[in-house]
Amino acid sequence: MKLYDSHTETIFDFKPKKEAKIYVCGITPYDAAHLGHIFTFLVYDLISRLLIYRGLEVKLVRNITDVDEPIYVRAQEMGLDYRELARNQIDKFDLIMDKLGFLKPYQEPLASSYIHQMADNVASLVRTKYAYYVGEDIYFDIGKIQNYGKYFNLPPELLVKLLKKRGGNPELSLKHNKLDFLLWRNIDDPNDSAKWQTPLGLGRPGWHIECSVMTQEILGSPIDLHGGGNDLLFPHHESEIAQTRALHGNNLSKHWVHVAPLLLYGEKMSKSLGNLVFAEDILKQYKAQTLKLALMKYDYQVGGEWVHGYLDQAKILWDKLDHVSKFNRDNLEQLKFNLIKDLEDNLNTCQILNDLNYFLLNNDKKFEKSEELNKIYRQTLSLIGL
Ligand SMILES: [Zn+2]
Repeated sequence: MKLYDSHTETIFDFKPKKEAKIYVCGITPYDAAHLGHIFTFLVYDLISRLLIYRGLEVKLVRNITDVDEPIYVRAQEMGLDYRELARNQIDKFDLIMDKLGFLKPYQEPLASSYIHQMADNVASLVRTKYAYYVGEDIYFDIGKIQNYGKYFNLPPELLVKLLKKRGGNPELSLKHNKLDFLLWRNIDDPNDSAKWQTPLGLGRPGWHIECSVMTQEILGSPIDLHGGGNDLLFPHHESEIAQTRALHGNNLSKHWVHVAPLLLYGEKMSKSLGNLVFAEDILKQYKAQTLKLALMKYDYQVGGEWVHGYLDQAKILWDKLDHVSKFNRDNLEQLKFNLIKDLEDNLNTCQILNDLNYFLLNNDKKFEKSEELNKIYRQTLSLIGL
């Protein structure tokens, strides 16, 4: 299948052999899943479905970042233990994923289940001088890696801003380089319960080392495909790549596919702006298939302004599709051919919608009603997760 690689900035032919090792960065469980998350997971669900149809074994890992600063901040605001907040949010998320009928990931690791492996990896980076202490915390020395910050062709002047925006601290004066990022935070505060006893002392890992370690532990490296929302390009994915190079001497992933954001009022949906649309709310009024069809209006490389009205258009389309019970055999075969072609074509979801409408328009002549055709029809729709 053709996909767009954010590293080479070209369309490539994604052809893993026998099995596909895929890692997609998942949620931080401190707030409900918004449409941007769902759009990203939809893209990875469509990729998986086509690969499975092609006979591959798909090993898709979607982690849960349950060790991360925003959870502690939010838990404190709510007067909750951070574990309770994370657990509630994970349960909610699982329920939404089930409702949406996405394929179950091969594994859905919690960062908190890999703390000791993370600490071991950080210790190894200190030993090999890729990492150093600032006080009692540990930072990655990006000066030891060639071309850090250049993997995704982002403007260099943007990197410090992005680091700051994503929880980094470029101003910390004792660091060797502004872009050096946190690997391990020492925790002295007796009231801070998010800490683990490890050979590094009492503390917790930084965000980036979590995904590197979970990828390596579950899938090894290099994997075939890695991705998530395109806000993860820097510093998260760039830093994962640097750590894997330092630890294992190879690339983390052969390919990178990122999903563009959905916007509301011209801004990326984000907690800090309060412009979020939650999947949970939409699913109270609309079926999962309707939401998926509405999201297919968007090109994953482009994203765009969320239009609520797309849900009503999608509802009409799904009602029609769901009520088809007689089939023109040629038309049905054409539909299957077209949907596979559209998925192969860099996930051309807009064309999928056209082809579904074309199918409905042409299904009124010479039709027959049979169990066999109905089964083929449902299998065809399941290729696109409907
Ligand atoms: Zn990640």
